Amino acid sequence: MPACTGFEWFYLLRRMVIAQAAIFLIVFCGPVLAAPYAGPLLDAHLHYNQEAWNGQSGPHSPTDVLGRMQRNGVRAIVSNSRPNDGTKLLASSSQTREAGVTVVPFIRLYRNRADYDNWFRDESIFDMVKDEFVRGTPSGPFRGIGEFHLYDSANANGAVAQKLMAFAEDNGLAILAHVDDVAIDPLMAHTGSRGQATRLIWAHTGIGGASVERVEALMARYPLLLGELSYRPGLTCTDATGATRLCPEWRALLLKYPTRFLIGSDTWVNQRWLYYDELMTGYRAWLGDLPPEVASNIAWNNGARLFGLPPAGK
Ligand SMILES: [Zn+2]
Repeated sequence: MPACTGFEWFYLLRRMVIAQAAIFLIVFCGPVLAAPYAGPLLDAHLHYNQEAWNGQSGPHSPTDVLGRMQRNGVRAIVSNSRPNDGTKLLASSSQTREAGVTVVPFIRLYRNRADYDNWFRDESIFDMVKDEFVRGTPSGPFRGIGEFHLYDSANANGAVAQKLMAFAEDNGLAILAHVDDVAIDPLMAHTGSRGQATRLIWAHTGIGGASVERVEALMARYPLLLGELSYRPGLTCTDATGATRLCPEWRALLLKYPTRFLIGSDTWVNQRWLYYDELMTGYRAWLGDLPPEVASNIAWNNGARLFGLPPAGK
């Protein structure tokens, strides 16, 4: 072993001190968690359904839900509701502007629960969507269609599903779709660009748990496909200390496609409103584990780019 010079001894000693300090921290403090993401959030999957506010007020009045958004730093929402009145109320309320929340309104296909299972073949729903699109909201045009559900992927070829996809692309509307991975190709095939110009937000990025490889392949095939991450199976893992972190394969996918993912609350039942704080705190925790630029993309900029909102920090 060659002799060390004075400088090398100093360097070696310094490295030993750092290594011992690291061991001390791991043994006595556990792995150091990154600080939570602290910037603005865009909730890309929000429902303000009838039962949340009952037409006038209710368990979750506009004051209540806007308060939840405000205290969680949610500065914009993709809003849709059954029926569309809830979204129109939020979009037009002066309270929304005062709370500093921008509403990106989407047309919901459902007038009632029965429409969930039948919309893809019900011409009256296509007529309703066209009417809503022409009317817009009191504060501006609708920007998208959805959330719609396909519990059987074969229904992606239903007559109304086909027309709706073409209508969305022709009119510059984004889509929010709760479908499995098998339905993505047929839905995209119904558009003029065959999916190459279709802005499709994939709700939950496949709630059935399509593999990371499969999600990655669809991201590569469709340049404007975005994955919304509520309820996504396998997204987060618990580490040895009990802390919740991104699972390694998902972390790698988010880093590979940093401009293609979004966060959302999916307030599909009133109970989700009760957990709104926890949901957003949970997102902030794992976003903090990503490089800051990637975190602010997923939290805000990817949705902001999609709907022409200013980037974070501007
Ligand atoms: Zn939903």
